[in-house]
Amino acid sequence: MTVVKILLKLVLASLLTLVCVQYFVSKHYNYAYPSVFKGKYLYNPYDSLKKHWWKSNFHAHSIAWHHLPNGHQSPKKIIAHYKKDLKYDIACLSNYEKRTHYLPPSDPHYIPVYEHGYNIGKVHQLVFGRDPIVYYDIALFQTLDNKQYIINEEKQDSDIVVVAHPEVRDAYSRTDMEKLSGYDMLEVLNNKKIATRSWDEALSSGKPAWIIADDDCHDISKPGETGVSWTMVNAETKKCKDVMEALRCGRSYGVKGSDGVNDHYLKQVTVKDTVVTFVVDDTATEIKLFGQNGILRKAECNTDSISYTFKPTDTYIRAVAEFPSQELYLNAIIRYDGKHIPHNNNTASVNFWRTLRIRAVIIAIWIFGMTVVVIPSIPVTLSYFFRKRRARELSLILVHQSGI
Ligand SMILES: [Zn+2]
Repeated sequence: MTVVKILLKLVLASLLTLVCVQYFVSKHYNYAYPSVFKGKYLYNPYDSLKKHWWKSNFHAHSIAWHHLPNGHQSPKKIIAHYKKDLKYDIACLSNYEKRTHYLPPSDPHYIPVYEHGYNIGKVHQLVFGRDPIVYYDIALFQTLDNKQYIINEEKQDSDIVVVAHPEVRDAYSRTDMEKLSGYDMLEVLNNKKIATRSWDEALSSGKPAWIIADDDCHDISKPGETGVSWTMVNAETKKCKDVMEALRCGRSYGVKGSDGVNDHYLKQVTVKDTVVTFVVDDTATEIKLFGQNGILRKAECNTDSISYTFKPTDTYIRAVAEFPSQELYLNAIIRYDGKHIPHNNNTASVNFWRTLRIRAVIIAIWIFGMTVVVIPSIPVTLSYFFRKRRARELSLILVHQSGI
């Protein structure tokens, strides 16, 4: 056996150990049966709007980790592009497993965020806050339980957890959207990709997931990488605490457009008894209203407003206003108890025995794998080194005898 073969076996053994450890750490859960929004009252996230709307991008990648991930410009260059060229009010960097200090961390306007995930399925999350970064991930296929475990780990002390680009590589299935809980927002608009299917799956299962819209740019020099999707945040100031509070309550909407140009705005959303009225600043080509299971409930063309009366069977209604140059995606008006702002609280409880059983199976797989890969190679490896040592000793004896 050559050195190459021995090294290959060592690499295989290390990989097997790494994979097993990743799956071993994860816990397994019982999920609350998917429910729907209930209650006599309607929660309107746009009820008490503040004076300012801030045009924001929370998802962008700069050069990081010695150029290892996909990121082509310096933090300074990317922030300058958003703030100066595209006139954004808020521009953040969300590198993989790293908070980039594009502003001094002590600055109240600094919004700490990173993107979590280095797995093949693109199961990613954006994590806002200053809590310790979660480096743990499962690099291969992730089950629903694995995804829930990672969200729980992220959510422990963070301000906001966002399920990022849910439909890229089908990262989050329908079952995932129906059952996962504990995250706050969904990246419904990610550059040119639209994930309203996942959004409606979450909303239809009683998960109040608020919208976030981002460019997720990796190279600002490429056309169509920036100014494509952005979030309008309604907050008193651009300070981190005000922005986080607005995002947590759903006082935001997503925009799909180009070059970050806001031709049109949301004006107001009012709720009177069971009648919801959406008003935009100008005549839209069409305003559409979607409800439970993403079904279109109403649509009107060439109008700047639309009203809808909630039926007893309606659980939520969300609006999309289409203009020739852009589309506005509004957060849903949802049924609630009239007391607490709806949050997507964690409803999954650890299934102790299932976790134990799966961990036992993983240990068995690891032992089996090591038995097949490593153990047979130990005598061969030892004999290889013994042969080499013997050969060296023999050559020394020959040299000594020949008197050289
Ligand atoms: Zn990203």
